[in-house]
Amino acid sequence: MADAASWSKKSLAAQALGRIDPITKAVVPPIHLATTYIRDPDNAYSSGFVYGRPDNATVRQTEEVIAMLEEAPAGALLFSSGMAAANACFAALSPGDHVVVSAVMYWALRNWLLTEATRWGLRVETVETDDLDALKAAVRPGETKLVWIETPSNPLWTITDIAGAAAIAHAAGARLAVDSTAASPFHTRPLTLGADIVMHAATKILNGHSDVVAGVLAARADDAYWAQVKKVRAGGGAIIGPLEAYLLNRGLKTFYVRAAAQAKGAADLAERLSAHPRVTRVLYPGLPQHPGHDLAARQMENGFGTMLSVQVSGGESAAIGTAAAVRLWKRATSLGGVESLVEHRASVEGPGTPCPPDLLRLSTGIEDPEDLYRDLDEALSAAHR
Ligand code: PLP
Repeated sequence: MADAASWSKKSLAAQALGRIDPITKAVVPPIHLATTYIRDPDNAYSSGFVYGRPDNATVRQTEEVIAMLEEAPAGALLFSSGMAAANACFAALSPGDHVVVSAVMYWALRNWLLTEATRWGLRVETVETDDLDALKAAVRPGETKLVWIETPSNPLWTITDIAGAAAIAHAAGARLAVDSTAASPFHTRPLTLGADIVMHAATKILNGHSDVVAGVLAARADDAYWAQVKKVRAGGGAIIGPLEAYLLNRGLKTFYVRAAAQAKGAADLAERLSAHPRVTRVLYPGLPQHPGHDLAARQMENGFGTMLSVQVSGGESAAIGTAAAVRLWKRATSLGGVESLVEHRASVEGPGTPCPPDLLRLSTGIEDPEDLYRDLDEALSAAHR
């Protein structure tokens, strides 16, 4: 859009930055499938494209939309999954570097960090990053190179103070990276709060239709670390495919509408489930009784996200029984899609999980909130019969 600066993010996302195909004048961008490009007679690559592994025009278009959403001055980089994006942040470090990461975070990344990243020589320390004093005690000035936080953290939805964590990381000479998958740019833009890198499993609400696996990083500074992250993607070959990038771009057009409806649905559910006789606790940062509520109210906007967890009276068997009895909710892993999902997380995460056995994770979709509540209410009753 020639006058992009004057339109809101919602308008820019709806039109994928308003790009018109210069040849056909199509309002939907074409999908560039070519893996290779003609070199000019003078041996240059004047189009800027050489080969499909380091770069692709459809991928770039989608990256530009996400960079706009995240207010990322140095741009965004798409990867073949959220894990690939996260991996790149750690692979861009050097053996021996010390990293401090949230104790409560996406379990597969925590496992990968503690088992695989350590094999490559990273020194990984976990800490409850919602406690800034604990974070301060864990970082080692001059030694810690990266602080990795996830807020709200999956699946307990604890809140870490992004600006506070950035100040601590920077004072120690480290960068701050934020897994903002659960917040999404609808609620939080970590780079504007001092973070250096923001990461998303774009598989989730950015795409929103449970039909693309994708990850993205966006950066504040175009510095040596970001250059190294780009090298890791190009060399490691973890770029997203053009078809997936196209689908993600299409999903982003309705991102604001979906995120608003899903967050409202989650807030309504959190409130109603808090009063449910079969629910002992609701974990949702929008509830005043949530320990991170005041911070979330300052750090997040447009509500508190689409994710909540409930602890079910009767323990693990009642939680699993409730998930077994739903009819409208889908019993499946993942989050952020238009269809509502319920999952017993402790079964997935296994030994060592910080997730209580009576917890069900709920990803709120766009169905009628009344139906979503009724289905859960009936499932909770069925599990207690
Ligand atoms: N971060 C969070 C918070 C997630 O929930 C997930 C996946 O569930 C990931 C990262 C990893 O993303 P992907 O499954 O696209 O690799």
